[in-house]
Amino acid sequence: MSTQTFATDHTPVESLGQPYAYPPKREFYEPDWTRIHGWKNVTREEWEDAMWQRKNTVKSLKELKELLGDKLPDSLAESLQKDIETRATMSMLVPPQMINTMNIDDLWNDPVRHYMLPAFADRRTDFPNHPKASRDSLHEADMWVVEGLTHRYPTKVLAELLSTCPQYCGHCTRMDLVGNSTPTVQKVRFNIKQPERHRMILQYLKEHNAIRDVVVSGGDIANLPPQQLEDFVSELIEIPHIRDIRLASKGLMAIPQHFLQGTVLRSMERLAKKARKHDVDLALHTHVNHAQQVTPLVAEAAQMLLDFGFRDVRNQGVLLRGVNTTSEALLDLCFTLLDRAHIMPYYFYMCDMIPNSEHWRIAVHEAQALQHDIMGYMPGYATPRLLCDVPFVGKRWVHQVAEYDRDRGVSYWTKNYRTTIEAEDGGALNKRYEYYDPIYTLPTIGQEWWRENAEKEAVTAH
Ligand code: SF4
Repeated sequence: MSTQTFATDHTPVESLGQPYAYPPKREFYEPDWTRIHGWKNVTREEWEDAMWQRKNTVKSLKELKELLGDKLPDSLAESLQKDIETRATMSMLVPPQMINTMNIDDLWNDPVRHYMLPAFADRRTDFPNHPKASRDSLHEADMWVVEGLTHRYPTKVLAELLSTCPQYCGHCTRMDLVGNSTPTVQKVRFNIKQPERHRMILQYLKEHNAIRDVVVSGGDIANLPPQQLEDFVSELIEIPHIRDIRLASKGLMAIPQHFLQGTVLRSMERLAKKARKHDVDLALHTHVNHAQQVTPLVAEAAQMLLDFGFRDVRNQGVLLRGVNTTSEALLDLCFTLLDRAHIMPYYFYMCDMIPNSEHWRIAVHEAQALQHDIMGYMPGYATPRLLCDVPFVGKRWVHQVAEYDRDRGVSYWTKNYRTTIEAEDGGALNKRYEYYDPIYTLPTIGQEWWRENAEKEAVTAH
């Protein structure tokens, strides 16, 4: 009888010098907050208290200095101050949980610091701002059918219930609306009072049975009083044609203590039960950009939602240079989310063309290379898609580009549906829509073209 040998004769696959070595090297733990000067006497009970987290959220450079003591280098403090005065599109708001995931021994190079506490020296000085960058770069407000309700896709909508978050991210795509005004950005405000707005949103959704999917967002739903959120979502669940509800909260990662409070847990449990009874898929979408930010408390909060019957907890991160734009950083994050917290890596968006974001943004071809490099490591269902959110189009996978001028960094995209603002535009489906790579990533010829034409192009952009 012949015996056949199989793979046991081969070199183990992990010894082949793979570009990415699983498992991630980073340990999974809650960093010790007492290592931080201002929190050396903070107890576990205080740390796990959502009210304590909110009360001690860092809101100014002065508070940051007091908290970190000599761990905050003077050079960084000066650069943060200059950024606040001249570049920042978001005000400072960082919960203790997030600060605790930073490497306070090297804050200049820490990826979480890099996007939550942007410094002037981080930003580009040649082209800090793409000539085509704009506030509300995705034109969400243009597509409001009710104030705060964006109807861009045929079957799904985005409901912005509020305009605040427990944390403000430097790269926020809704910088036009979300958070407090900064020295350089006067924020837009909702005109209609919140209860009336919510009622109008629900009314619109009841009247449009082609909508099956609602993203309940903001801002961040973690800033809405639990009863108000429950009332809104509960009514949504009762609308017969709504099949999918996704609650959007970066707070699940930034302040998991919020979701671990009794009132919030009971509210989430009631909603999950009700959603199941009505055959609606209820999920939570969070926003984690680096593996450092996934800690046992985050995992515990996510697990509670899954135990209640949430269909899923998914992650929608943002690709940010200096934070996560290497295949190793992305895979570390995805595996940590999946293995440690049962959070599904779902999407990574390219950073949008908002003002002063050039240093974070990457080119489409870089995103394509990243997508290529992360394939084959994760299970297919958990391999995130990298997306370009193309103005007036919506999400496109980065390989869906129709045409690409690499010299000027202009990619052209098409779409297969009309948004609400194109009712009169018979040619909307035959058009090409543009997206722009950061200028400093272009070849010399492209950079020169933009230097010569920036002013002209910027005028036509607004
Ligand atoms: S949590 Fe989301 S909406 Fe809030 S500041 Fe960050 S990116 Fe913007």
